[in-house]
Amino acid sequence: MTPRSATGRLAIRGHFIGGQYVDSAERIGVVNPANGETVGSAPAGSAEDVDAAVSAARAAFTDWSTRSDHARARVIRGISEGLDALKAQIAETITTEMGAPTRTALAVQASLPVVTSGRIADILDAGYSAAEECGNSLIFRSPVGVVGCITPWNFPLHQIVAKVVPALAAGCTVVLKPSEIAPFTAQFLSEVVSAAGLPDGALNIVYGSGGLAGAALAGHLAVDMVSFTGSTAVGRQVAATAASTVKKVALELGGKSAAIILDDADLRPAVKLTVGGCFVNSGQSCSALTRMLVHEAQYDEALELAVAAAARYPVGDPTSPDTRIGPLASFAQRRRVEALIDSALREGARRVFGAQVAIPDGGAYVAPTVFADVMPQMTIAREEIFGPVLSVMSYRDERDAVRIANETIYGLSGAVFSRDQDRAVRVARQLRTGQVDINGGAYNPLAPFGGFRQSGNGRELGRYGMDEFCELQSVQL
Ligand code: NDP
Repeated sequence: MTPRSATGRLAIRGHFIGGQYVDSAERIGVVNPANGETVGSAPAGSAEDVDAAVSAARAAFTDWSTRSDHARARVIRGISEGLDALKAQIAETITTEMGAPTRTALAVQASLPVVTSGRIADILDAGYSAAEECGNSLIFRSPVGVVGCITPWNFPLHQIVAKVVPALAAGCTVVLKPSEIAPFTAQFLSEVVSAAGLPDGALNIVYGSGGLAGAALAGHLAVDMVSFTGSTAVGRQVAATAASTVKKVALELGGKSAAIILDDADLRPAVKLTVGGCFVNSGQSCSALTRMLVHEAQYDEALELAVAAAARYPVGDPTSPDTRIGPLASFAQRRRVEALIDSALREGARRVFGAQVAIPDGGAYVAPTVFADVMPQMTIAREEIFGPVLSVMSYRDERDAVRIANETIYGLSGAVFSRDQDRAVRVARQLRTGQVDINGGAYNPLAPFGGFRQSGNGRELGRYGMDEFCELQSVQL
């Protein structure tokens, strides 16, 4: 069950096509970002591998798509239970491949997929596919067909499960292309789905690079839909590639989310929660609260609190239980984040925390960093950063706060803090983002997750996530 070989290296047995493991002559090495060592490899998929996987998915479609909700629920519940049993191994693997600190890896990375897939099984058991009546019509949800899923490295298993499981639950069959940077947890899933009784070919996995295997999947004539999570730049390319076959496209892309701390908020917890929302997963979360917007009269006090909160995020070896910020997922990612930090310094932002933090040698580490005096036109205020870097900005009044928050090309997430919940909801409704948390409102695996504007289109999770993988069919009586 484990992807470790006898030598202790992480090993993927091969692409998973039609229920069989099929190796490639070529492999892509995977590096532990905590020390730069190559820890294993994954097969480098070709267009032919994608073709074989799509054929297997097509062949499995009739059987899987015609099973009852309860029959599919049994398999999905088995997947959830299978992942639950492997949580510790999955967390350890994620820490090795992309550097998530052990406690985040276990509490979030490995646990979330168990919960999200379990909720999908509940939705099926409650009767998802029943037809709705509309005048003289019956409205059915039909599975869209074969779905290509392309996923990133930041929450490698969660991002996979958030697509693959609702797609399977809706009756689709799937070809998955995981990130080449963090490919190993996909193999856990292939073993779990077989044990849960998913028919061969309903889930296929082709490892490899986005430029080759990912593009082949997005452009494949026999793929009916592509569901992508990753950067906005690559999302644009995927949508363009998919357009040639007019397939359905769902995109979960980047963000530049703002936390608006209103002047009546309880400042200390609001700042602490915003820093946490920015630094979670070492800052590599699409919904990271990278901009903290504070009323000008409270700016200095909030800045002091932010620095104090940032100082409580020890950086270090991700396997140590005390570490809250591990290395970034790759050395390329570290270079990207460092370049954005340099741009902030060049453009006149003031680094009030980070320069004094000692970071370990030899890994892809970036110190948790807080910038003051960040202006909306600065690069750091506009570009997704994907590292533990917080920008603190000031606003004059509520309207100004909403204007600044909305002043990006993105629209993924946001947060509002206020002692007056009605006021907070009123402000939240003015944010052009797919989700907004009020006073640290908890993550809800049943609520739709997705973006406005260039943060993407389509929704993931729960019933809304399943709807994404369906076409509506109306039958007139
Ligand atoms: P990418 O958007 O490049 O990668 C996401 C997935 O798309 C990977 O599986 C990748 O493959 C694949 N891919 C790459 N190019 C293509 C293509 N032409 N056609 C089809 N699939 C493709 O993310 P990166 O890993 O490069 O990260 C870059 C930046 O993206 C980060 O710094 C961050 O800002 C953002 N990002 C946002 C995420 C989010 O959740 N919103 C998640 C991850 C990154 P491959 O395995 O080769 O990388």
